[in-house]
Amino acid sequence: MSSIIQLLPDHVANQIAAGEVVQRPASVVKELLENSVDAGATEIKLIVKDAGKTLVQVIDNGKGMSVTDSRLCFERHATSKIRHAEDLFSLGTKGFRGEALASIAAIAHVEMKTKQEQDELGTHLIIEGSKFVSQDVAVVPKGTSFSIKNLFFNIPARRNFLKSDTVEFRHIVDEFERVAMAHANIHFVLIHNGSEMFNLPASNTRQRIVNIFGGRTNEKLVPVNETTEIVSINGFVCKPEFAKKNRGEQFFFVNDRFIKSGYLHHAVMAAYEGLLKDGTQPGYFLYLDVPPNSIDINIHPTKTEIKFDDEHALYAILRSSIKHSLGQFNVAPVLDFER
Ligand code: ADP
Ligand code: MG
Repeated sequence: MSSIIQLLPDHVANQIAAGEVVQRPASVVKELLENSVDAGATEIKLIVKDAGKTLVQVIDNGKGMSVTDSRLCFERHATSKIRHAEDLFSLGTKGFRGEALASIAAIAHVEMKTKQEQDELGTHLIIEGSKFVSQDVAVVPKGTSFSIKNLFFNIPARRNFLKSDTVEFRHIVDEFERVAMAHANIHFVLIHNGSEMFNLPASNTRQRIVNIFGGRTNEKLVPVNETTEIVSINGFVCKPEFAKKNRGEQFFFVNDRFIKSGYLHHAVMAAYEGLLKDGTQPGYFLYLDVPPNSIDINIHPTKTEIKFDDEHALYAILRSSIKHSLGQFNVAPVLDFER
């Protein structure tokens, strides 16, 4: 009997991985924005055309890449962020899988310009469907620009599955807002079809939330601050009288990463017990900092779900700190505070 098992070529493996990492243009936005944050950028500009179906471009003023790295970054499992399996338990970056760029380049046309501060000249590189088309020396500013065009050009089923521009753009705005809320100290701009949708100057968390959700948000916010051995909680919950019928603005960030957690949501709702009209939901913007070795982020490729070591303790601390803040809000003045 002859053997029938074969190792898949890299470009096929990349295309398969892309199916998990890149579901829609918004997934590209998330990965590129997070890379810019990891690169230490203080200014990040997102330019989108036709809800990302025509173009997603992210320009940053971060540390850029060397000539060698500008090619290596498109290899699978190529990352500058971890070296050993243990590093997974002390992550200080958004990325670590080394998968995003390889995946995106497998299913789109990618143009990259990058330059490190100390280099006089940078790199201009084009890669399409995992094939390097060109790589030239170029005069470019410090930092990195990625332009992603023709997303899913070689996966028609995915392309056809995309929703209307309104829906796809809503997903992009969601990702943009989440990254912007987690990094209030970075200046973010979003331009869609030539119009500036957001221009968020570097600021503190409270101001960032108000800049995104509108001036009236300020009066709704009640600060929450609590530090224990296992978690430090900062951020805001909204006064109960502003609760809404729909879920509205509800955000958890863990170590500056947006996450979804039904369990933690339940803890918040428990803190509001007796304060809400039936069927209404409060807004909240909660930032939890935990020791990196007490969580596992690597349970889903998009990293929006995480596992906590001590979920029960976290639940109790979250609930009691919010309860405490809500109990105080009508007597204590709402001070401007920096996270
Ligand atoms: P990961 O973020 O998990 O490391 P990616 O595929 O997203 O994987 O990126 C691969 C590598 O490319 C990163 O580790 C980083 O070294 C480099 N890189 C990507 N984007 C940027 C950027 N905007 N600026 C500087 N380096 C970048
Ligand atoms: Mg990344």
